[in-house]
Amino acid sequence: VNTFSGATLDRAAHRRTDAGWLAAALADPASRALVTTPEGVPITGDRRDPRPATTPLADALADSGRAPAEAILLGVGGDDAALFLIDAVPRAGTRGADGAQAGARITNLRDVAARLSPGDAGLLAYAQALAAWQRTHRFCGICGTATVPEEAGHTRRCPRDGSTHHPRTDPVVIAIVTNGDRVMLGRQPGWPRGRYSALAGFVEPGESLEDAVAREIAEEAGVQIGSITYHSSQPWPFPGSLMIGFLAEHAGGEPRPLDAELEDVRWFDRAQVTAATAEDGWTDGDGGPGLLLPPSIAVARRLIETWLS
Ligand SMILES: [Zn+2]
Repeated sequence: VNTFSGATLDRAAHRRTDAGWLAAALADPASRALVTTPEGVPITGDRRDPRPATTPLADALADSGRAPAEAILLGVGGDDAALFLIDAVPRAGTRGADGAQAGARITNLRDVAARLSPGDAGLLAYAQALAAWQRTHRFCGICGTATVPEEAGHTRRCPRDGSTHHPRTDPVVIAIVTNGDRVMLGRQPGWPRGRYSALAGFVEPGESLEDAVAREIAEEAGVQIGSITYHSSQPWPFPGSLMIGFLAEHAGGEPRPLDAELEDVRWFDRAQVTAATAEDGWTDGDGGPGLLLPPSIAVARRLIETWLS
């Protein structure tokens, strides 16, 4: 399972429009809340065993100053208690409602992702992506009027023109190009020394995933591809992407960086990649650039390991 792909929470989507059930859940002392801020997600537990921190919903509402209508229903836990998301915006000069009352600390999700259980990582990815969308879609894109939450926070409606605005997910294709015992990887300026990874790019309007893979690889590396194979997908809530992973067969062209996005793009052979995997990081090629594989939480790493095996 890719990191962030293992959410197990029952999203209880049918409850989002059940006004009676929602009112009861908002008043139920057993209901809990995850309190996010633009700085991250609430984490408790020690560094080696981090877990999402939840607080009683009533406390989260009181501390954040949010109205109950602004609580977003994430779902229903194994204990049948409703779990809500409260996005707290720290007020100037205060710490804001950062969940600290529960012994939690607001943490960058990237920093703890590798140590979370699959279910917890999936839950926090879900919460962080939804919170980021709420934060940036407070006004109607048509007329500029402030929108109001509906469907327990999963849509927003414009009270002036009646338009409905849905949470946004941005599809990103990510692919490695293979040619027998060689794999093509690229590096971006600013990455750690030796880091090479799969090529990635946003899917454009009116474009299929297949066409997006071929276009990105041609644009960035000057390489043509033949058949592509879908591997897996991964929510990537930074802030709202869905990574869609592929393996693509090389069909022509020698890799060279063609746009500013890539600093280098080149072939690595199986022995080089195997050595980088075994050492879980840097290996000096024979006079080559060395190779530091992408981190284990990235679907790019899974694509490379799939090719190796
Ligand atoms: Zn409007």
